[in-house]
Amino acid sequence: MPKNADETFIKEAIKEARKALKLGEVPVGAVITYNDKIIARGYNKNITSNDPSAHAEIVAIRNAAKELKNYRLDDCKLYVTIEPCPMCAGALIWARISELVFGAYDAKAGACGSITNLVNNSKLNHRVKTTGGVLESQCKGIIQKFFHRKRRNINLHIHKGASAKDNPERSEGKPKLD
Ligand SMILES: [Zn+2]
Repeated sequence: MPKNADETFIKEAIKEARKALKLGEVPVGAVITYNDKIIARGYNKNITSNDPSAHAEIVAIRNAAKELKNYRLDDCKLYVTIEPCPMCAGALIWARISELVFGAYDAKAGACGSITNLVNNSKLNHRVKTTGGVLESQCKGIIQKFFHRKRRNINLHIHKGASAKDNPERSEGKPKLD
């Protein structure tokens, strides 16, 4: 496999993140490969599917399991733009994903080295080979721009005298990487 393959697939994950961005979702995207081919994709759909578990990684894992007709994703690699949260890191373990590559670290919610490390925990019976920081600034840039724009819109609302009820941060909960 070429040396820059990780970057190639992270770029594909970025494409997924942009789809989330268009829908007003927190822009995180993921792809899963098997034998170096993409078999599944996913992006954040929490708001559009009214589903707190619909993170990019979970969506991609569900799609990959369907594709392989197997609840175990041995020998699959997951590429995601942001370090997985505890829920997604847990799903990686249960799915037996063999390798994880992510873009930006998430100091507030990342469970693959930042706030804790679930994917390489000696007490759990599966460990995931992990590489972080691939195309980090690009991955971080998308999400930072998203929250910057969101905050600016909120300020505009407040200046126009909108009520706190209209504050999207409130209805969507605490965002990642704010
Ligand atoms: Zn997650």
